[in-house]
Amino acid sequence: MLLEKLSSQAYHDGIFSALKEQDSRVYELITKEYERLQGTLQLIAAENQCSRAVLAALGSVVQNKTSEGFPGARYHGGCEIVDDVERLAVARAKEAFGARYANVQPHSGSGANQIVLAAILDRGDKVLSLGLEQGGHPSHGGAGTLAGKFFKIESYFVDKTSFLLDYDAIREQAVKVRPRLIMCGASAYVRKIDFKRFREIADSVGAYLLADISHIAGLVISGAHSSPIDYAHFTTTSTYKPGGPRGGVILMGKDYDLQTKVWGRDMPLWRHIQDATFPGVQGTPYFNHIAAKAVFFKETLSDEYKVRQFKIIENAKRLASNLSDFGYDVLTRGTDNHMVLINMEDFREALTGTMAQRCLEDCNIVVDMIRLPYDKKPASITGGIRLGTPIVTKNGMGTAEMDSISALIDAVLRKVKIINDREYEIDESLRNEVRDKVKQLCDKFPMR
Ligand SMILES: *Cc1c(COP(=O)(O)O)cnc(C)c1O
Repeated sequence: MLLEKLSSQAYHDGIFSALKEQDSRVYELITKEYERLQGTLQLIAAENQCSRAVLAALGSVVQNKTSEGFPGARYHGGCEIVDDVERLAVARAKEAFGARYANVQPHSGSGANQIVLAAILDRGDKVLSLGLEQGGHPSHGGAGTLAGKFFKIESYFVDKTSFLLDYDAIREQAVKVRPRLIMCGASAYVRKIDFKRFREIADSVGAYLLADISHIAGLVISGAHSSPIDYAHFTTTSTYKPGGPRGGVILMGKDYDLQTKVWGRDMPLWRHIQDATFPGVQGTPYFNHIAAKAVFFKETLSDEYKVRQFKIIENAKRLASNLSDFGYDVLTRGTDNHMVLINMEDFREALTGTMAQRCLEDCNIVVDMIRLPYDKKPASITGGIRLGTPIVTKNGMGTAEMDSISALIDAVLRKVKIINDREYEIDESLRNEVRDKVKQLCDKFPMR
């Protein structure tokens, strides 16, 4: 039987029904995940919620295109349209971040970091980065990573009592270590990062500076956090944390064409980045992700996006001050960004980060356990939790809802009965009451 040729419109409109028809099991799991997201409170600082337009680009035919290299210089035929897709994504990324160079090919934020390291370092070179247990990220040279194996990684720390970056101490350490690269940016740090200061430190020891703004990229785009673009030689970010598709991007500001010799090759910095992307670290680009990044970067130029970034911070500040008033040990007693870090250790005997995560989730409030700087608990238990406000803010919640959420979190953590490191008991009526209130909030502020 000859199949009828679908119109372009019918082809694209029918994508999701094709999945439903062909694979009911996967369709059912995706539907369940949708219901979980709709029916529970998402307070994970490392997550966001992309638009349906971004989802559509991710599920589109450009994903079929194979190519290698960059627009205008590909190794496969038929690339003229995906060349335009990538050029558009690059132009919009540059506009969003005020950058001179953008590379939209990295498959992830971790991959973007790996590309920069591969571009400018020789085996055995020294890197100075924030320790993983200090709020850093595995892709900054963690033990067990490729970077950890091939480079000499030295960690800097946050201050033991203030939990703030101590720039004088970092400077002293840089002078001692003489790194080829300094990395800044964090997964668990609630105060502003002084990129200018980091650049001064890097310059004083002749190091490159890489700013990884994965967590705060949305705030940077909208001016709610200062931008590293012209201070750092390289800026990297994941694209899902600020609210786009999964993936990464590498940006460069005023130093993008600095002539630099690495491995005997004398070229502008941006060319080293291109070559390290392909064939250095990655193979073919994911054009569906690149198309989705283009859609997302356009969204970030809207007033709605910019205003929302300030609301995200306002909401996080509200959670922090409420919980602090309730007697929780909120790190640095507040926040300047989208996340709140809480040390559970002294709140109630036997309450740990893991237990807090589990009993909150039992009441449909989804948060992360996290190891805080100088955490005394093992990594599998942790002393802290991390809350984040990007998703609840995206769905329209404001400070009044943050008050309700703080009260719900407190009701659970104050009343849960801790049996041991693995077991707890929540009174059935409390669980139902919290779940009901969560449901009311979720129904009032559905996914957008
Ligand atoms: C989340 C995060 C990344 C990793 O991004 P992936 O796309 O998940 O690989 C890198 N750096 C920092 C600081 C992060 O918080």
